[in-house]
Amino acid sequence: MSAVPVTIGVRMPLPGAADAASDATAVPGAPLVDTYSRVHRDLRISLTDRCSLRCTYCMPEQGNEWLARTSILSLDEIVEVARVAAAAGITTFRLTGGEPLLRTDIVDVVRRLARLRGPDGQPVEIAMTTNGIRLDEVLSDLIDAGLHRVNISLDTLRHDRFRELTRRDRLDDVLAGIAAAAASDLRPLKINAVAMRGVNDDELVDLVAFAVAHSAQMRFIEQMPLDAGHTWSRENMVTREEILQALSSRWTLTPVPGRGGAPAERWMLDGGPDTVGVIASVTAPFCGDCDRLRLTADGQLRNCLFSTTEYDLLPILRAPGAEDSRADGIDGMLRACVRGKLPGHAINEPSFLQPARGMNAIGG
Ligand code: SAM
Ligand code: SF4
Repeated sequence: MSAVPVTIGVRMPLPGAADAASDATAVPGAPLVDTYSRVHRDLRISLTDRCSLRCTYCMPEQGNEWLARTSILSLDEIVEVARVAAAAGITTFRLTGGEPLLRTDIVDVVRRLARLRGPDGQPVEIAMTTNGIRLDEVLSDLIDAGLHRVNISLDTLRHDRFRELTRRDRLDDVLAGIAAAAASDLRPLKINAVAMRGVNDDELVDLVAFAVAHSAQMRFIEQMPLDAGHTWSRENMVTREEILQALSSRWTLTPVPGRGGAPAERWMLDGGPDTVGVIASVTAPFCGDCDRLRLTADGQLRNCLFSTTEYDLLPILRAPGAEDSRADGIDGMLRACVRGKLPGHAINEPSFLQPARGMNAIGG
């Protein structure tokens, strides 16, 4: 029997580790190459769906359906999946959520993942995407544990807007996190903002200037239809073109070549060295170069942010007495997930269906 993809909301019956293992047509340790020849090097690990903020484009203010606590992967389970992924050529692990810093074992997660090695013996890279709250308290422990890079989200520099947008009065905490990251050696330091019409589209230049002043690279993200409240509309989305036009009023923008599989296109500001990035998933999708997989906090592998199919690792991770075949089972499920990857997302097709999970439960 082969590893069967799971449509979200419908968990497959317990397949047992051996089932997934038998689906592993590739030799464990071989790279994770999909049917469109994309080699997968990046695994985004969502550590929790919980968050200290309630950003309007991500979560509803109330009534969010939280993942069951019993389904959240333990530290050992995360490391087990990551070890197999590293053996299959994953070189970067990005910790995200929800808010990854809400995990009380976050320093141990970083420490254990940072010890992993690829098939060539090279160390893996550990990165994190965070809203920055509490980062000032834990950053030095995270760096000691092996954290290499951090991206911090900041959509506005104005307290009133921040309160409205995130439904929490925590801008000063985020700024403290950014200040701590700027004072550290972690580079490149990236600051992410979702550009929104009538919300923060008059602050794009200010946000770039703020990032430059903090030795960081500002990156603007086109808003995607991934909010748990299903409120996305194409009209309210600020496009890549509009972002570039706004920035051109202040800087001469020169494209930076050599993007590779990176989600952000980058431009030099007035000839550099400072740069700005735009992640235009909606108007200029970059699926052809995608090298990313995702692991949700409840053990579901996903091959795309927008996929409505998941590959359930929980039965493999929790099958009693299956320790010997567990690594093969995980490897088989990783390969099934990669094999099932479509050439691109379909946001711009009339048939597009928003995934049932919000961004906080997928892992951005
Ligand atoms: N809580 C952390 C944070 O905010 O950085 C990590 C998780 S968050 C889901 C990761 C990234 O996804 C953030 O940069 C956030 O701005 C972005 N994001 C969330 N919902 C989005 C949406 N609907 N469209 C585009 N980006 C979104
Ligand atoms: Fe939380 Fe990040 Fe979602 Fe904002 S974008 S609600 S900080 S998970």
